[in-house]
Amino acid sequence: MNSAQPKRSSVSQSRWRDQLRSAYTDPATLLQTLGIAVDDSQILKPAPFPMRVPQALAMRMRPGDINDPILQQVLPINAETMPQPGYLNDPVGDQASRQSRGLLHKYFGRALLITTGACAVHCRYCFRQHFPYAQEHMGGSFSHEAIDYIANTPTINEVILSGGDPLMLSTKRLAELTDRLEKAKHIQRLRIHTRLPIVLPDRITDELTSWLANLPWPVVMVIHANHAQEFDHEVDTALAKLKLAGVCLLNQAVLLKGINDETKVLANLMERGFAAGVLPYYLHRLDKVTGAGHFEVTDEAMAKIMHELRARLSGYLVPKLVAEIAGQPYKVPLL
Ligand SMILES: *Cc1c(COP(=O)(O)O)cnc(C)c1O
Repeated sequence: MNSAQPKRSSVSQSRWRDQLRSAYTDPATLLQTLGIAVDDSQILKPAPFPMRVPQALAMRMRPGDINDPILQQVLPINAETMPQPGYLNDPVGDQASRQSRGLLHKYFGRALLITTGACAVHCRYCFRQHFPYAQEHMGGSFSHEAIDYIANTPTINEVILSGGDPLMLSTKRLAELTDRLEKAKHIQRLRIHTRLPIVLPDRITDELTSWLANLPWPVVMVIHANHAQEFDHEVDTALAKLKLAGVCLLNQAVLLKGINDETKVLANLMERGFAAGVLPYYLHRLDKVTGAGHFEVTDEAMAKIMHELRARLSGYLVPKLVAEIAGQPYKVPLL
């Protein structure tokens, strides 16, 4: 180890923290920066699930375009408060699969840890936007209960770090958590679900990749990109660093009306992801979470899109269209 190394990583460490602090939280400021004049009454104020957009992501939005596919994922609008029959606060039955503080055990072999409630970006369609994070994340000292549950359940061979966004925790905290998980000898894989390589690529520091490369398990990282425009040079660089650290990169997207509900847009996403070293995993049907009804895509449109994707993409670039249905033993394939 040369002595310059810790210093360099602490510099980039603070850069992503600075970016979090300078994220856009006021819709008017973001719209003004993008040169978009919009009827103020369309914007939801105050948004109960507040806006949050890192500048690195806002820079990829097209100036002057209210229909920009990245902007549309993050801008709080009044449509969120319209009555939406059939839409629920916990549409996927997370609460029913809670086994201990911060731990969801819904599917055989996999345990999901709610490591934190924090995210760098607030996606308007988020199925956990009403999740009671204050009581239900693992807590500052990482719930013993959750770790003991994993250690005492030999069928769990994969631990999934979720949230919130697990990469919002410092690398030091993540390492504390994985050190404690090592006592569960039956763990074979670690999976991390995160949007940070996309929305805050500076988070992929040397310190982070060195933690990942030195874990005792193979690591799968599922990034959540919905549109090819979310990739840029910085994202490519961050993903390349993750690949070099031996991480298997997958993408899951949500099918969202007005954002990616067109064959061409989705095909571009899958191809752009592959160019950055990422294979498609799931394409999720929208979870019917309160406030997200305006993103719903009809069953007919979904069927047409899947047919057209299969007709134009290499087989391995076609994502699996699934829905999360409360009470089912797996994410349900739709078509
Ligand atoms: C989605 C999910 C998983 C992972 O399911 P896969 O089909 O393996 O991706 C695990 N636990 C919970 C609670 C989930 O919601």
